[in-house]
Amino acid sequence: MILRGRALSAAAIALACAVPPSLATAATAPAATTRLVYATGKIVPIPASVPHEVGDMVDKRIVPDLRWIAQRYPIYVTDGYSGPLPSGEHVGCNGCHVKNSDHYNGLAVDIIPLDGDGRCDASWAAITRLAKWAEPRQNFPIPPFRWVGYNGDAGHGCGNHLHLSWNHAPAPQFQLAEWVEVFPVAPAEGGAEEGGAERPRHPRAPRPKQPSGPSGGISQAPTGGIGARGD
Ligand SMILES: [Zn+2]
Repeated sequence: MILRGRALSAAAIALACAVPPSLATAATAPAATTRLVYATGKIVPIPASVPHEVGDMVDKRIVPDLRWIAQRYPIYVTDGYSGPLPSGEHVGCNGCHVKNSDHYNGLAVDIIPLDGDGRCDASWAAITRLAKWAEPRQNFPIPPFRWVGYNGDAGHGCGNHLHLSWNHAPAPQFQLAEWVEVFPVAPAEGGAEEGGAERPRHPRAPRPKQPSGPSGGISQAPTGGIGARGD
């Protein structure tokens, strides 16, 4: 029993040390924990509190995070979910995302400055800060983000757009993922409304082991390489 107790303590210390320093120290960062939301997802309109192009939608489970971001960064979402609704209506841009894009699961957004004019100018400074917050080092996004497309990524960056994808269970395109990884948002910061039904309970929930197959139609791929992106 003593040995087991020591082993548990060691595990607890290891977990505590696993918090990325950039999250632990950055004043503007969310809580240094994330959680997996297993609540049933749904493609919903992006709320007015998150400036966006008319008609844009996302999986409701990332709405609290989006609202939190919009409260801190002057963002304008140009695309979220891209695909058909149960009604048959098409949402989002058509054919503008890569194969297996997280946009096809409603778990990615494309962002430009709220008051920009399309050029890479001072209006992008805050978007650049947001990109660096989500991905301090190229190709190493901080959870819950799965892929961040910005400077250094073809078709992305200042003057183009910032892409943010959330980690999620593998899911065929146009289907909702079983779980989504998010950063907890306090009720006062927009987490109490749609998509915010669950309160954070666990520090850094362990990520379920993902099935190794099947190939094709799976949107979650290893990050970092060509074709592994979620834009
Ligand atoms: Zn994108």
